[in-house]
Amino acid sequence: MWHKFSLPLVVSLACLTACGKAVSPLASVQSAGVPEAASSLLPASGLSPIPPELREQMAAAEHLIGNPSAFPNDAAKDAYLSSLVQALPAAGYDREGFLAKLGVAGMRSPGKQDGPTFYAVLQLPGYRPGTLVDGKEILPQVMAFDIAVHNPRLFMQLIRATNASVEAPSRNRAVWKRPYSPAGTPQPTGEVAQQRYAPSLAKLTRSYGLLFDDDFHAGLPAVAAMPAGTYGTFAIATSLGFTETQAWRVASYCNRIDYDTTPYGKTSFSPAGQMDRHFNLDRGGQDTRLVWAQRHLDGARALAKAGAFDQAEVEIGCGLHSLQDVVAHGQLTPSMHGVIGEFPDQVTYDPIAVYEATQATVAYLHAYLDAVATPVTTP
Ligand SMILES: [Zn+2]
Repeated sequence: MWHKFSLPLVVSLACLTACGKAVSPLASVQSAGVPEAASSLLPASGLSPIPPELREQMAAAEHLIGNPSAFPNDAAKDAYLSSLVQALPAAGYDREGFLAKLGVAGMRSPGKQDGPTFYAVLQLPGYRPGTLVDGKEILPQVMAFDIAVHNPRLFMQLIRATNASVEAPSRNRAVWKRPYSPAGTPQPTGEVAQQRYAPSLAKLTRSYGLLFDDDFHAGLPAVAAMPAGTYGTFAIATSLGFTETQAWRVASYCNRIDYDTTPYGKTSFSPAGQMDRHFNLDRGGQDTRLVWAQRHLDGARALAKAGAFDQAEVEIGCGLHSLQDVVAHGQLTPSMHGVIGEFPDQVTYDPIAVYEATQATVAYLHAYLDAVATPVTTP
């Protein structure tokens, strides 16, 4: 019963579960209709004009993921793309210019915000959060979503009020502010970087520029040749020349952050874990996910310098998780994500984020290889 839940609890419960992987595809839907008040979610100017290159990126990403069906009409697609045009500029969350240093400064998804994103969700006919636990819908999430659909203005006020308590445990621990060094002592693997990464380094020198081209075909590695479904960290790493074992390690640890099974303890998105690895808990400062991406990249470089490549690849995986969450979650708050469910996580709902996450992942892996391949001279 609704009255048995306090709202922070409801939102916390929804948040605890919504970021998980057990989601149903475009589940049992019925049109909710969009109330007039939904326009309060947008800036006074309404929907923004959509630049042609954004539509091209969307088409490229839809080709890659092989399933454009989440956006069944132009209104839904335009609301989604417009929410990205209205995203916060990088200066608002990446004060240290980390993304620019990686070579992916122009991304839009990292800046997406609660209001326009929720408006886009409301334009998707019949969308309901499809998070399932043991095959069942999360009741608090569904209830919160129904309230949100019928009174977006009130919902946004509640979101602001509840985020404070949802974020409090991770914010109080403030792990991202504590000194950091990679877990464990370096265990050298007995190789030098040129042996370890021979295929990647050969590709790096051959096609480095192409992968960062403005043209979206070059931006997504081998998109035209790639069959549907082969995208994501493992596919990207192997396409860059990492061996299957290396790519598996990177991809596995990238995923494990959600499940508390890395050397870094309780890192999941739940309030008991480290929300700062999945959401930006330092709004107005350096995005906490970018802090983690930078730390693990630095850690990986140091471990590779010591010849400890297995551990370096664990670092790369852990850092990629936060970097990819910057793209997938943007500046959405935990409570908003908790209520709207899989919209920011499932690739069919977020093709531009797929495109940009690919660019960011390629850039991050290149930044690692660059440092590994460059002989370090100490004065
Ligand atoms: Zn995450």
